[in-house]
Amino acid sequence: METEMAILKKARQELQQINVEQVLQSLRKNQIDALYVANRQEAVKEILALIPEGSTVGYGGSLTLDELGIKEVLQKGNYKYIDRGRPGISPEEMFTLRRECLLADVFLCSTNALTRDGKLVNIDGVGNRLAALTFGPKKVIVVAGLNKIVDDVEKGLTRIRSHVAPLHARRRGWKVPCAQTGTCMDCRSPDRICNILSVVEFQREKGRLTVVLVGQSLGL
Ligand code: SF4
Repeated sequence: METEMAILKKARQELQQINVEQVLQSLRKNQIDALYVANRQEAVKEILALIPEGSTVGYGGSLTLDELGIKEVLQKGNYKYIDRGRPGISPEEMFTLRRECLLADVFLCSTNALTRDGKLVNIDGVGNRLAALTFGPKKVIVVAGLNKIVDDVEKGLTRIRSHVAPLHARRRGWKVPCAQTGTCMDCRSPDRICNILSVVEFQREKGRLTVVLVGQSLGL
């Protein structure tokens, strides 16, 4: 006979699966390709399957991508990998490489939030990630853990301002108020990290955007 804990676990898993299906269907309605994988290893496999060998590959800053280890795999593989992570890179070089990423064949990034109705909600400090997400690279692969799912755009913005930005700023030691208070103070700090807001509601060019939803918690 099943124990109460086993029943609860099963109910949780079933509801999670229903939520995942809802998000995948919503994304597809918005002409965004969407697939679900159970874990990091499967995610890496599926991402690589989406990138033809020889492609120029760029990426936007993302703890999710770091956790997957996909950048190291691409670096060693048969790709023209745009490496913005080299130690000692100068601001001028970084600027140039960020611009190169905008013309990459494939661009990888995550999203700050993913709504149940299939929208990608993001805020950037520089804007290079959002520029590439919306236009430029021929193909964009967005990797997101289940922790990124929110009810709607409003909840996505709250997630970013009350969770993502304070944590990101604090781990980097940036001098912005949310790093001290844990929530957004709508600052005008020179180091402000929330400067450009983007909501992708629909992808006109079919096949350009793919979301790989991973059944684990990833990134901030
Ligand atoms: S606007 Fe300023 S205080 Fe608010 S989340 Fe962004 S950096 Fe932090």
